Amino acid sequence: MSQNFNAASLARENVKVMTPYMSARRLGGNGDVWLNANEYPTAPDFQFNERNLNRYPECQPAAVIQNYAAYSGLTPEQVLVCRGADESIELLIRAFCEPGKDAMMYCPPTYGMYSVSAETFGVEQKKIMALPDWSLNVDAIRENLPNTKLIYICSPNNPTGNIIDNKALLEVLEMTAGRALVVVDEAYIEFCPQYSVTSWLANYPNLVILRTLSKAFALAGLRCGFTLAAPEVIEILLKVIAPYPLSTPVAMIAAKALDSDGINTMKSRVAIISQNRIALSEALRDLPVVEKVYPSETNYILVRFIDGAKVFKALWDKGIILRDQSKQPGLVNCLRITIGTETENVRVIEAIEALC
Ligand code: PMP
Repeated sequence: MSQNFNAASLARENVKVMTPYMSARRLGGNGDVWLNANEYPTAPDFQFNERNLNRYPECQPAAVIQNYAAYSGLTPEQVLVCRGADESIELLIRAFCEPGKDAMMYCPPTYGMYSVSAETFGVEQKKIMALPDWSLNVDAIRENLPNTKLIYICSPNNPTGNIIDNKALLEVLEMTAGRALVVVDEAYIEFCPQYSVTSWLANYPNLVILRTLSKAFALAGLRCGFTLAAPEVIEILLKVIAPYPLSTPVAMIAAKALDSDGINTMKSRVAIISQNRIALSEALRDLPVVEKVYPSETNYILVRFIDGAKVFKALWDKGIILRDQSKQPGLVNCLRITIGTETENVRVIEAIEALC
């Protein structure tokens, strides 16, 4: 039977007007050098021989939790595993923010999913622009605290690559004590582990840290991320998480990636990427089409070009796919380049040199 069906008229008001997050995969492209999603450029090798797929997996697979707790120097009660750090961002909003009443806060230019998750749940967003040097505007954060339940702070920040200063972070943790959670997104921390704030969890029960296997662990396709927090916070997140957030193969591969061999392999990957990042930054720095290569201790660099759109298009046409950041506040003419293999680095350098 035909009916006059209009799905949009049934959708929630905030979903009707939403623009979905344009992930690197959704943006498409026809490349052979993929440098737009901050992935690791080569694939790790894993055996998978679990046959018991007739059974549901554990909600929080013990081996994954134990290995991550050991790796991060925390107790298993301080660790939650889920379907990527993106799911952690969303779980926190679902568990802590009442739509129409509470707000979440973040500091642009930064990672886009904080905003998309808030929008999905109809939760008010407070956007506190970073200062011109991309440090936190601590005074503006303080002024906007009433009704704020969650503050997302990305460090190292995506896409700018800067680390958030400890003093500013501590100030925000102190001013929010007892009234809001401060969520430090450490997705890229393996590239600069000296800046991790995991040791602060002992003193700040309102601190939450996000981690992922998508970057230095080279497992973006696995979809596995972690939330590190006080056991009381983890308990609340466990109320709203899906019953089986990780499939059995994901749990097996994640546990393996986090054993001592897996951690050592990850560290050697970090060393290679860091070397390639320095080489790429130095090669681009003095080219006449480049205005500035921003410092970074991650697996990407942000570059301000004289004409960013021209560089983006020229490389796109050669199959080299970068991420255009020019629509973010303060990032006119900026492109983010993921650090790839040495060969990919050379492709990027040659393609940009050709424009000079
Ligand atoms: N946070 C930041 C800062 C990121 O860049 C990303 C990945 N693009 C994520 C979180 C999400 O990571 P995951 O793949 O674990 O969902």
